[in-house]
Amino acid sequence: DFCPPTGLVAAQALPEDTIRPSRLDEFIGQDDLRANLRVFLRAAMEQGRSLDHSLLYGPPGLGKTTLAQIMSSELGVNLVQTTGPVLERCGDLAAIVTNLRRGDILFIDEIHRMPPAVEEILYPAMEDFKLDLIIGQGPGARTVRIDLEPFTLVGATTRLGLLTSPLRDRFGVIFRLEFYKPAELARIVTRAAAILGIGITPGGALVIGERSRGTPRIANRLLRRARDFAVVAGAATLDEELAKSALLRLDVDPSGLDQMDRKILETIINHYEGGPVGVKTLAVAISEEVRTVEEIYEPYLIQCGLIKRTSRGRVATAKAYAHLKMQLL
Ligand code: ATP
Repeated sequence: DFCPPTGLVAAQALPEDTIRPSRLDEFIGQDDLRANLRVFLRAAMEQGRSLDHSLLYGPPGLGKTTLAQIMSSELGVNLVQTTGPVLERCGDLAAIVTNLRRGDILFIDEIHRMPPAVEEILYPAMEDFKLDLIIGQGPGARTVRIDLEPFTLVGATTRLGLLTSPLRDRFGVIFRLEFYKPAELARIVTRAAAILGIGITPGGALVIGERSRGTPRIANRLLRRARDFAVVAGAATLDEELAKSALLRLDVDPSGLDQMDRKILETIINHYEGGPVGVKTLAVAISEEVRTVEEIYEPYLIQCGLIKRTSRGRVATAKAYAHLKMQLL
């Protein structure tokens, strides 16, 4: 009587999946990471063993899920995906790992959000491919040890610092994903446009690449929205001019900052005299969650040198003042 949840069926048809690179050669940017991963994949294949447990960390949308999928397709093994918050009880994890086949990849997104009890049963599973489960409660409780097939755990996190050190230490490889350069994002946009059948000029792709906050997921989203403007304007090709006007209408400024980025800068400068202001206060002032500010907005603003994180809070830099002044002109 198995009836798949409709969400799962719909997910298969997601446009995101059609443009997701499935081989390492199609993955653009992150050159050092890609070169190292290629070596580790080849070594695992030549020695006929499973890949070492790997941890991917970096801001959202930089390709962590994509890389986990690439690892599985390059190795020709299954990929089983889950996320930390979904694994509420030890049984949830046990049900997944006991079904893994030799060499399979278990991808746990947001691995830092796994409950501590679940994390603890993961340690022997990672180290010795054994699962220690406690059956029953009280004096009658007993531990059973289950042997697992050797598998590779690929964990993804936006915040390396939130991982406990016993968990972090059990990963053989730690990959850090960096924000992409505009030229790399332009290549990503050009590739996605070709798959989606969108005509785009190199200038149009670069405009989107420059204004996507260093993030492929945003670049692909802006491409689709800019395409909509081109369609309505009756243009067959998305050129520089069209891309610029579409992005302005989408509230993305020439530096690539969106409305929320600017709101953060404005709040620090206008309401807190440039800071320092604590992240909790800042989050309340802009009606966002602290986690969203810390994981989504702040990393890019820091990378651009627009804000600084100090022990007393967030501070707007001279560049931030200059940026906002430019907006007022
Ligand atoms: P999250 O951590 O939030 O799940 P993520 O880092 O896993 O995000 P992905 O879902 O892997 O991000 O990537 C978002 C989209 O960006 C993918 O669908 C893919 O099309 C595209 N993408 C990401 N990285 C690359 C890349 N290096 N080359 C080409 N396309 C990419």
